[in-house]
Amino acid sequence: MKYVKLNNGVEMPAVGLGVFTFSPEDAEKAVESALKSGYHLIDTANSYVNERATGRGIKNSGIKRENVFISSKLWPSEYENENAVNETLARLGIEYIDLLFLHQPSGNYLNGYKMIERAVKDGKVRAIGLSNFEGEYFDDILNHCEIKPQVMQVECHPYYPQVELREKQLLPNDIKLMSWFPLGHGDKSLVNEPVIVKLAEKYGKSPAQIILHWHTQMDFIVIPGSRSPEHIKENIDIFDFELTDAEMAEIANINKNERFYYRDPENLKSWVNLKPQWEEE
Ligand code: NAD
Repeated sequence: MKYVKLNNGVEMPAVGLGVFTFSPEDAEKAVESALKSGYHLIDTANSYVNERATGRGIKNSGIKRENVFISSKLWPSEYENENAVNETLARLGIEYIDLLFLHQPSGNYLNGYKMIERAVKDGKVRAIGLSNFEGEYFDDILNHCEIKPQVMQVECHPYYPQVELREKQLLPNDIKLMSWFPLGHGDKSLVNEPVIVKLAEKYGKSPAQIILHWHTQMDFIVIPGSRSPEHIKENIDIFDFELTDAEMAEIANINKNERFYYRDPENLKSWVNLKPQWEEE
């Protein structure tokens, strides 16, 4: 496993499992399967309504707490709930979390950020993340924070490699990029790209493995989602080859500057009022 060093010295695995859209049953099984297959990083969120199941999956795997890097995200409805961090820890069944994000720049996100900073000082959070805070929102946090964030989680893949965000905001602040929708969220166009298929044949890997390796060679952290034990195993078996500079350039050429998901500004505003229904888990 490759590890990435964050700007506060914390080291985190470069590849993990993401459990977005997983039912509690699926999350519990997939987390256990991933940890038993050699994963050390799991990414969930308040709003996925599977944090309890993720915690159960971690316990079922038998892996020691210190050998798993857990990330979750506070949802905007929680940014003024002073117990939000404790409640997140309680759902996950853990005493501290390795990486805690603000999920979206909606509502009183500056208060949410201060709350996470306090939790860092209290030893409850090891690293701070922002998710979907590109542009003005990132600047707002940087202008008000006491502790700089360590990670930015955003949609990122060869069709949308986040060039501007990286050059203008992340690199100058030594903040690591964590890619969501790394494989295109089930859309087959990316895995069927001729350059990806050609490289898969050359290295004896699957197209998904080529894409995931590309993320890590770009120094990104990547969290593909999968419920299938075979794909889960495949998705960390990506470190036995290296793409050449020419191949990295060929992949850079398929940048379409297009996302798979465009956030609606009206939705963004309304998310502060959308409390996750945790009692359903
Ligand atoms: P993804 O790009 O990881 O794609 C998942 C799809 O790829 C699924 O259909 C899966 O079956 C398929 N797949 C997985 N491994 C495969 C393989 N080896 N071969 C072929 N197909 C394979 O998209 P995702 O799961 O939606 O996103 C990954 C993670 O990113 C989420 O679970 C979540 O943790 C995070 N995420 C965060 C945000 C955010 O706002 N912060 C938003 C979306 C997702």
